[in-house]
Amino acid sequence: MSESPEVATRYVHKYGGTSVGSVERIHAVADRVARSLEAGQQVVVVLSAMAGETDRLEGLAREVAEEIAPRERDVLLSSGEQVSIALLAMALIKRGFAARSYLGWQVRILTDDAHTRARIEHIDTDALNDDLANGVTPIIAGFQGIDTRGNMTTFGRGGSDTTAVAVAAAIGADECRIYTDVDGVHTADPRIVENASMLHVVTFEEMLELASLGSKVLHPRAVEFAGKYGVPLRVLSSFGDGDGTLITTEENDMEQPVVSGIAYSRDEAKLTLLGVPDVPGIASKILGPIADANIEVDMIVQNVGADGSTDFTFTVKREDFVRALELLEAVKADLDARSVEGDNHIVKVSVVGVGMRSHAGVATRMFDALAAENINIRMISTSEIKISVVVDERYLELAVRAIHAAFDLSDPPVKD
Ligand code: ADP
Ligand code: ASP
Ligand code: MG
Repeated sequence: MSESPEVATRYVHKYGGTSVGSVERIHAVADRVARSLEAGQQVVVVLSAMAGETDRLEGLAREVAEEIAPRERDVLLSSGEQVSIALLAMALIKRGFAARSYLGWQVRILTDDAHTRARIEHIDTDALNDDLANGVTPIIAGFQGIDTRGNMTTFGRGGSDTTAVAVAAAIGADECRIYTDVDGVHTADPRIVENASMLHVVTFEEMLELASLGSKVLHPRAVEFAGKYGVPLRVLSSFGDGDGTLITTEENDMEQPVVSGIAYSRDEAKLTLLGVPDVPGIASKILGPIADANIEVDMIVQNVGADGSTDFTFTVKREDFVRALELLEAVKADLDARSVEGDNHIVKVSVVGVGMRSHAGVATRMFDALAAENINIRMISTSEIKISVVVDERYLELAVRAIHAAFDLSDPPVKD
């Protein structure tokens, strides 16, 4: 069946920080968008701030105050994207294309009021659809929105991917293309495993695990959104011309490797309350105040010692470590626990693969690989398609490389 000629293919292109990191790179992006437009495609562009800019702004905030007010952090951090969108609009206009830059509030990307980690609730598509109908290319600031009271909000670091997917869902784009500084999703971070292979196809489910477990290549909410709204999603290089990685549903991908990839997260810290009485209700007494403080708990392990008391260990994000430690000290007094221990020099390394469902022995292979390198496993957690371990920070690279080698991931796991 041939497509009706008047229905243009609609794409969302998202370019990350490195891809717009200099005037030269902005011109390269303008050339790429121009090629799409010349091919008769409609394009909505979503941009990150220029490389290093959001970090710089975050650094400034930290110089000014130890405790940063979340509302003001959002006002500050969302300013980086204002620069890149205006520059790209200028570069496209210079090439003879009509283009218009938009901040989140100008599109009206409506979010909840959870500053620094807001969720998108609605996107007004009127202006975007009007522009597209009139041959204008909208260029939207990623990672930011507005709450119902008019406050600026941001979506968490790396959140421009989420803007792109949400916009793609809202305007019914044919594909959301995440252009970045690698040629696609790899079996592990290519910065750590040089010979990691590129995955041509990965399932939404696996990608969501990889992203949630720390793979920076896609923001977890972007994957969640794409899966939920059926947005075809592709990760590809803004520096080359490959097809990149398609994130798709499982049915499209017949041959499932046991392990598809390895993720890691440095953003971890571990806390232990030692010598707690082993009675019902302890877990909720310990974690209640942590939850009340809006601190997310990830792994939890509880051990009953020989004396019948319990040691209770859990992990939180590093930024929440100090606060969680303070809260535990208060709980310690209440519960008559022996002591509190904390360690914020730990990392989490995970293997992910839908093929694990039907294959035994994945955990053993992973643990053997770590044992062979003398790496001590401090905590373990598993789900149907992933196994995570906590190890000392200094072993991160070694652990990722050893596990990658143990699963032979340097050979392409999916032949196409
Ligand atoms: P952008 O600025 O384009 O959003 P990011 O730095 O957020 O780029 O994400 C791209 C980076 O993600 C890569 O440079 C790479 O180091 C890292 N990365 C981590 N895990 C993976 C993986 N499995 N595959 C590809 N890249 C990965
Ligand atoms: N500029 C923001 C950041 O650096 C958002 C993004 O790039 O996705 O986190
Ligand atoms: Mg990113």
